[in-house]
Amino acid sequence: MALVIDEDKCARCGVCEPECPNEAIKQTENAYVIDPLLCTECKERYGEPLCEAVCPNDGIHKAKDSLYKKCVSFFG
Ligand code: SF4
Ligand code: SF4
Repeated sequence: MALVIDEDKCARCGVCEPECPNEAIKQTENAYVIDPLLCTECKERYGEPLCEAVCPNDGIHKAKDSLYKKCVSFFG
């Protein structure tokens, strides 16, 4: 699974983007988004999602199934 950014909470501060070890966070025209095909939840090295920890607006969370599928189709 992957994490997703809640567009309604994202202030587009950009803090999360450089934290990602997999370069999974991208800035689009309207929001920051996480590529679910690249996001590993940071499990391999850090044990917890780094982006979720640094977001000042509590805007990043584990994806629910439906949202995950939507993200996969966006990047697919
Ligand atoms: S850290 Fe949070 S508020 Fe800032 S760009 Fe990332 S998701 Fe948006
Ligand atoms: S959980 Fe880790 S791998 Fe996934 S987007 Fe956030 S920082 Fe990147």
